[in-house]
Amino acid sequence: MSDCLFCRIVAGAIPAKKIHEDATSIGFADINPQAPHHVLFIPRRHIATLNDATAEDRELLGHLMVTAAKYAREQGFSDTGYRVVMNANRDGGQTVFHVHLHLLGGRAMAWPPG
Ligand code: 5GP
Ligand code: ZN
Repeated sequence: MSDCLFCRIVAGAIPAKKIHEDATSIGFADINPQAPHHVLFIPRRHIATLNDATAEDRELLGHLMVTAAKYAREQGFSDTGYRVVMNANRDGGQTVFHVHLHLLGGRAMAWPPG
């Protein structure tokens, strides 16, 4: 989808600080980081929101989780901890409509989230 910001990052049409690439997903630094480590893991394939995911996307979405955890381990903050978040639609605070898993780490997180 040429009008989707994250599809354009997947295509390389918009630059991003990529930290992970594989056949089905990429990971890149968030442009407005909310923690010392703030990475977005996204499927290469366009899925607008979690509401649009189907049973066929189970492996793809699980892959984002496992990839995020691996990155946290490699970067040395898995033991101290981190948070993964997927915002959906207006009340979830979603602003980019191509599903993405936020990985936030390197500081203590508050709960409940704002
Ligand atoms: P959402 O609010 O949809 O859950 O998260 C969207 C995230 O994308 C935000 O944290 C925002 O900072 C990030 N973002 C928006 N535009 C860009 C961009 O052009 N490049 C990168 N790397 N991140 C972006
Ligand atoms: Zn997209």
